[in-house]
Amino acid sequence: MARLLIVGPQGSGKGTQGIRIAEAYGIPAISTGDMFRAAVASGSDLGNQVTEIMQSGNLVPDELTSAVVRDRLTQADAAQGFLLDGYPRNVGQVADLDAFLAGRGEQLDAVIELVVPREESIERLTLRAAEQGRADDTEEAIANRLAIYERETAPILDVYRERGIAVEIDGVGTLDEITDRLIAALEGRGLSRSTAA
Ligand code: AMP
Repeated sequence: MARLLIVGPQGSGKGTQGIRIAEAYGIPAISTGDMFRAAVASGSDLGNQVTEIMQSGNLVPDELTSAVVRDRLTQADAAQGFLLDGYPRNVGQVADLDAFLAGRGEQLDAVIELVVPREESIERLTLRAAEQGRADDTEEAIANRLAIYERETAPILDVYRERGIAVEIDGVGTLDEITDRLIAALEGRGLSRSTAA
């Protein structure tokens, strides 16, 4: 059983690594970005509420985001653990998640910080924009998202560092190298895959 969070700037590869780690531990990877994109694609009420916000690269309001995550974490497959990707993204959301987990007698086991130099994230994002054509991968939205990351998201790492559950991982290398580093670090913290789920 593992309750994990992966944090990193856009373009750090956290989505890809998050899925790999979740698979290794037999837990669902829960990405708020993916959930919002699915809502936009389906044309649901939620999707309509977040379309413009996402296009500009701004953050969806905390109350809305936290409600979506609470809903998702209440589903049966998250009872034995989960990997959160992209939430919490600011200190207000950290408080929301803490309150929700405390109500279930739970807490996060580890918070993975994927460290990638700024130039490399920008390079990867620009490449992804060309390949996938994401609506928020315009140059302006990318710059906005990276600025928001530094201003609002990076500070949540201080909170988790103080709790002693932050794990810093070098996010530069091949996909397999980085996954191996991540698993080794988690196992080093007593989160072994054999006892997972
Ligand atoms: P991501 O795929 O994680 O980069 O998320 C894409 C977009 O979804 C972000 O730029 C935000 O507009 C929105 N989003 C994703 N996660 C959150 C969150 N935790 N809080 C607010 N907005 C979010």
